[in-house]
Amino acid sequence: MNHPPYLLYSDGEGNIFEDVSLYACGRSGWDAIPVENDEWIELPEGGQLYELPQRRGIGIDVKTGEMRLCEKGWAVAAFIPPAFTGTYLAAYETLPGAETLPLFCYTAAGWHNEKFYVTAVRIEKDIRQESAGFDEEKIEAGVKDLLSAYKHNRLVQHLANNCCLTYHCPAARNFFMGRWECPVPSSPACNANCIGCISFQPQEESIFSTQDRLMFKPTAEEIVEYTVPHLESAPYPIVSFGQGCEGEPLLMWKTIEESIKEIRKHTQKGSININTNGSDPEAVKVLCEAGLNSIRVSTNSAREKIYTPYYRPNNYQFEDILESLKVVNSFGGWTSINYFVFPGMTDSVEEYEALRELIKSTGLKMIQWRNFNIDPDWYLGKIGVTETGECIGIRQMMDLLREEFPDLKFGYFNPSIERINGNFEMDYAHS
Ligand code: SF4
Repeated sequence: MNHPPYLLYSDGEGNIFEDVSLYACGRSGWDAIPVENDEWIELPEGGQLYELPQRRGIGIDVKTGEMRLCEKGWAVAAFIPPAFTGTYLAAYETLPGAETLPLFCYTAAGWHNEKFYVTAVRIEKDIRQESAGFDEEKIEAGVKDLLSAYKHNRLVQHLANNCCLTYHCPAARNFFMGRWECPVPSSPACNANCIGCISFQPQEESIFSTQDRLMFKPTAEEIVEYTVPHLESAPYPIVSFGQGCEGEPLLMWKTIEESIKEIRKHTQKGSININTNGSDPEAVKVLCEAGLNSIRVSTNSAREKIYTPYYRPNNYQFEDILESLKVVNSFGGWTSINYFVFPGMTDSVEEYEALRELIKSTGLKMIQWRNFNIDPDWYLGKIGVTETGECIGIRQMMDLLREEFPDLKFGYFNPSIERINGNFEMDYAHS
């Protein structure tokens, strides 16, 4: 590509056009900035384009090189599929009175040679959430079979009717296809109040959570009943506590402890993982003693001052989440962070330094570079960030960390026990 792609705009009726008088650029923190040509990749399959109402795109005039607004229509951004990490946000100016954008990611997008382009990198080889891999017939058959096999299991009913058939959750769809990672939601409550919570949004907010929170507390029997057969029969099996349709699983640590012990009485196969806010290291210790294999702790930052105004924790501190990682590491378990990537915040020099410290102090094994599904202006406004400081670029940051921590793994999904104990770079598609 010998020049950046052209800026995209929409006519407000869902039709998208390129503006050949403007090159597309990116956003980092609060700033619109030019993006190197080699940072753009074709929009991956499964990606989508969004028009951003009441927002004007910012581009670079192809003649003058000046930055200016596109007055032809609304700004456009891309929602990039899992396994890809966005390196720049869409650049736009928000007009007064604009509604808060829903909980999706808004990556920079453009048009070049009859194709859509985005600023992103493929960070994960694993194909478990590739849209082309989901077979609707197999999913429907799986839902039918498992609903009749587990007539009285409320959790299987929830996974079928809500997660799979309503929210189209990729983890639930994989479960009903009998493969890979199987979800185990367990907690109706949470001890954090994340601004961008995807399972609960307070009445006073104008946006909605993308799924409703679980309304019941499953029993260990309900959990064990469907997870043991999955671990026994699925390829590269993982059962994962802590899903988008619940609160915080550690609040259910007693039931999870009982479940893990019972599961391991029946099978040694696969990995038992927990996706968590990491708020209770004591509970994590109990789960490790029961047989937990891996933990993924979610965070928007390696800095307490950025973490706390976002998570708004009840009765726990940022230090507790670091302690939870250290506990699992001390048991020889796999430790990941579910790292919400926000260009301009994640790649600030201050964040980079803090992340280096976190990796060293916790013995972290893996960073899952996840796109932050949140309205950028709303997020920065809510956590009170007016200035993000000097930035090094997301790709540059990844390269520096790879160099300094050669054993540290990058990805997007929880690895199977085969990857944890064996060839981490294995390719699911061809093995
Ligand atoms: S920790 Fe999870 S469930 Fe709890 S508020 Fe945050 S996003 Fe929501």
